[in-house]
Amino acid sequence: MPSLYIDGTWTSGSGDPAEVINPFDASVIETVEQAGPDDVERAVAAARTAFDDGPWPRTPAAERADLLRRVADLLVRDKEDIARTETLDTGKTLVESRIDVDDVTAVFRYYADLAAHDAGRLVDTGKPSVVSRVVHEPVGVCALITPWNYPLLQLSWKVAPALAAGNTVVIKPSEVTPLTSVMLVRLLEEAGAPPGVVNILLGDGRSVGAPLTEHPGVDMVSFTGGLATGQAIMRAAAGTVKRVAVELGGKNPNIVFADTDFETVVDNALTAVFLHAGQVCSAGARLIVEDSLHDDLVAEIGRRAERIRLGNGLDEATESGPLVSAAHRAKIEDYVASAQAEGARLVAGGRRPEEPDLQKGFFYRPTVFADCRRDMRVLREETFGPILTVERFTTEEEAIALGNDTDYGLSGAVWTNDSGRAERVARALRHGTVWINDFGPYVPGAEWGGFKRSGNGRELGPTGLAEYQEHKHIWHNTEPAPARWFTSGGAR
Ligand code: NAP
Repeated sequence: MPSLYIDGTWTSGSGDPAEVINPFDASVIETVEQAGPDDVERAVAAARTAFDDGPWPRTPAAERADLLRRVADLLVRDKEDIARTETLDTGKTLVESRIDVDDVTAVFRYYADLAAHDAGRLVDTGKPSVVSRVVHEPVGVCALITPWNYPLLQLSWKVAPALAAGNTVVIKPSEVTPLTSVMLVRLLEEAGAPPGVVNILLGDGRSVGAPLTEHPGVDMVSFTGGLATGQAIMRAAAGTVKRVAVELGGKNPNIVFADTDFETVVDNALTAVFLHAGQVCSAGARLIVEDSLHDDLVAEIGRRAERIRLGNGLDEATESGPLVSAAHRAKIEDYVASAQAEGARLVAGGRRPEEPDLQKGFFYRPTVFADCRRDMRVLREETFGPILTVERFTTEEEAIALGNDTDYGLSGAVWTNDSGRAERVARALRHGTVWINDFGPYVPGAEWGGFKRSGNGRELGPTGLAEYQEHKHIWHNTEPAPARWFTSGGAR
């Protein structure tokens, strides 16, 4: 079945086909066609024509919202099929994939509601004869480039607001996990997206992603992925002064004060870092613990980490799936080796699992390191895997300083029963999202994005829509008259 969608037609690509691998057992799920340079040109041209001459940017916002609502209904209809495919492709548990589809559905509904009521604003000029208003218009052709960890979810955070605002899009999912992005495009087609409004190109970053970021026909790049790729994209986009929104990695502190309920914090600290095998941008990979609680907490977290049941994401008993690829597992093993070489104390994991049925897949045991120092590589870089590092603190100021001692600034959490302290720490942390006595939840109506090297954009919330809009000021003088600024020529 053709896997590229260009100008309203499913089509074969001129690039080399690629095998999509199931990380549970390294089997081939499907072979997909990929784009070549001519496909990139065709997709951008289709999106350009649909934007410049097509109906979509001029369609009333309420009608665009209707299409998003139809997509949401189709997601509900196909939930089980999509969730199963996401699990096969990423290795995450079916429970997580089902939650992802529910979240994606909510994002489409949220932007449908927001777009329908986004009329811009009137500005008071102090002159009764002047109407000054700010109108919201689409940016144009948007390239949406997404990562492999939450393929469908990350795409929805981009495509729903981009379409709600009236843009046309060219989607480039990760070559590692493209399947549910293709499914979503099929739903957009079924919901009635006009030809050229939504296009999808499969292929790798070098041959498909990079040409999109340099292309003069693309007005905006919205990218979610790693820091180095984000930096390359910002450089590439500079040539044509594109709008660029980058959502990058994180090294997220999870700060625990000793007055917190022990069981609650153990349980949540494990989920914060080991959900989806730690392959989460906002994973709570740095546990920062008050001295008096430290030893007990480390011991209990280590004990429970050793018991996490790894397995096939499709098996309801599985608590955590594999890493996404052999190459990614090799990176994790390298981080573990460096942590040990730099003197971190291994409390749990640090090895592949022994179970015979897990030998074909890319599994790695949840790993906990104590006695970690701020200069260790495992603590400074985003490992993006099942590795928890533990640090300790004595004072509130020290906890805040540790939490901010990172180049990243995506998310963090503070656990305490002292609400004054919770607020002080939350305000002092330089991270885009801070949870108090929780870790991980988000809602479509609240902005998501990074401080510092975690990115420069915002997704979700009203700002997530504004990213895909030009805000144009229209000044209307209803009683024009000579200004009489240059009077030397005399009035006629
Ligand atoms: P990645 O290697 O940076 O790739 C992301 C996407 O960019 C993929 O589609 C990739 O294509 C493409 N790409 C690679 N080189 C490119 C280039 N030169 N020009 C244009 N596109 C290019 O990231 P990843 O490994 O897939 O994802 C993991 C990263 O994403 C982590 O750092 C994680 O923290 C981050 N992330 C951030 C958020 C957030 O909300 N801030 C959310 C999720 C993930 P191919 O892979 O197909 O080659």
